[in-house]
Amino acid sequence: MDQKIKGLKIYNTLSGSKEPFEPIHKDAVGMYVCGPTLYSEPHMGNMRTFINFDLVYRYLLHVGYNVKYVRNITDAGHITNSAGQQEDSIGKAAKLEQLQPLEIVYKYNVRFQNLQKIYNLLPPTIEPTATGHIQEQIEIIEKIIENGFAYAVNGSVYFDVQTYKKSFDYGALSGRKVEELENETRELNAQGEKRFFADFALWKKANENDMQIWRSPWGDGNPGWHIECTAMSTKYLGETFDIHGGGLDLKFPHHEDEIAQSCGSSGKAPANFWMHANMLNVNGKKMSKSLGNFFLPQEIVEGSTALFDKAYSPNVLRFFMMQSHYRSTLDLTQEALNASEKGLTRLTEAMEILNNLPTAKQSSFDTEALVRDFYTAMNDDFNAPILIAALFDAVKKINLVSDGHETINETDKALLISEMQGFVLDVLGLTLDGGQNDNRLKPVMDLVLELRQQARSNKDWGTSDLIRDGLKNAGITVKDGKESTSWQ
Ligand code: AMP
Ligand code: ZN
Repeated sequence: MDQKIKGLKIYNTLSGSKEPFEPIHKDAVGMYVCGPTLYSEPHMGNMRTFINFDLVYRYLLHVGYNVKYVRNITDAGHITNSAGQQEDSIGKAAKLEQLQPLEIVYKYNVRFQNLQKIYNLLPPTIEPTATGHIQEQIEIIEKIIENGFAYAVNGSVYFDVQTYKKSFDYGALSGRKVEELENETRELNAQGEKRFFADFALWKKANENDMQIWRSPWGDGNPGWHIECTAMSTKYLGETFDIHGGGLDLKFPHHEDEIAQSCGSSGKAPANFWMHANMLNVNGKKMSKSLGNFFLPQEIVEGSTALFDKAYSPNVLRFFMMQSHYRSTLDLTQEALNASEKGLTRLTEAMEILNNLPTAKQSSFDTEALVRDFYTAMNDDFNAPILIAALFDAVKKINLVSDGHETINETDKALLISEMQGFVLDVLGLTLDGGQNDNRLKPVMDLVLELRQQARSNKDWGTSDLIRDGLKNAGITVKDGKESTSWQ
């Protein structure tokens, strides 16, 4: 493994500090991130969290780790509480759209997968579903009961927080004290069944509104919300793995309860590092479905949101997100997006200039020091904004060399090209088309127009018209000039 990454430090929510990162198995990393509940299309806030963990994944890969990245899809058990009523969000959407629950999940998963391509996210190693792991969830619940940390009552099973507290620290992650939670939880359903107000459901007895029901040793029902992540992370990564991530809003109760379930079943904490990505805000408020202040990732790319008067390329949005650290909140505004668009153009232009930069015998500046700063930034808890600042230091140098004020030798130029491409393309996940989508089409269009030109030379008007009309249908108009053919 490369020397450069020796210094990677990750902020661990468990300790509240940056800790040197040492994976359990040398050179291999196991990472679990809580994925989306697909009862509707993920909004741009959800995407921010997934983009941030895509950055983490990309950097770990870039420095040579063999990473197993597991991100689940919640397609069962996501019970929300609205007005004191427990409701399965997928079942609710299924009734509303008159579809089966898994039709709902499939519909939105197709969109989610498409968004990941549009926003250039690397696919995780596996995206397991909760419904595909009901048996594993049941087995873990059985172990927790066996160990005395859960009890069955009236067809449901609850985690026994009071008993657990005698052996483990409930609140270790979130810092919450159980006693302080009482007011928050009192209103919820099923308080009568629970021995203690903070006990949480591992298995819920079926009720007549449930659209998905499974058999279990405790009768028909469905799993609680937290148990799926324990079942799937254990199955694919083992009882204890390296990194567990998710949005900050999941720290409590979801992640606290995942820890309790792991300790309560295997006796071991699930993850050594807990990472939490901060929220995308709109006018200072968390973007969320319930507040109605959300934008769909597709709308921003199409320019159909009410907030912005133009469209932005996904590349610009990614760059905008990378310009703030994953643990900071980020406000989505048109001014900020415009600034990102300009910055990205400057960066990609400089990379073009770099490719054609004249070389000298000697470099007048220390290229290795510039490159070291890229690694230093990312080794400091994946600090992408500092990385971008370091990339712009390099941009300054590139422009100075281009203007003849500085010099660079062949070796340093090759180093700078490979490291800048590595960080901009592989780590930040940007593409070199700046703010424009269309440039990505250029090589394809060059080929298509050449074929059309050949057809015309052969007086094969049929093929030539076929190509022109086909392009027109795809929204591309071709103009034949005197000297050349252009397209829009
Ligand atoms: P959900 O589908 O609601 O379970 O959320 C999927 C992921 O998106 C979780 O990791 C949440 O923490 C995250 N998330 C939800 N809202 C936001 C937001 N406004 N900004 C960033 N992440 C969010
Ligand atoms: Zn989870």
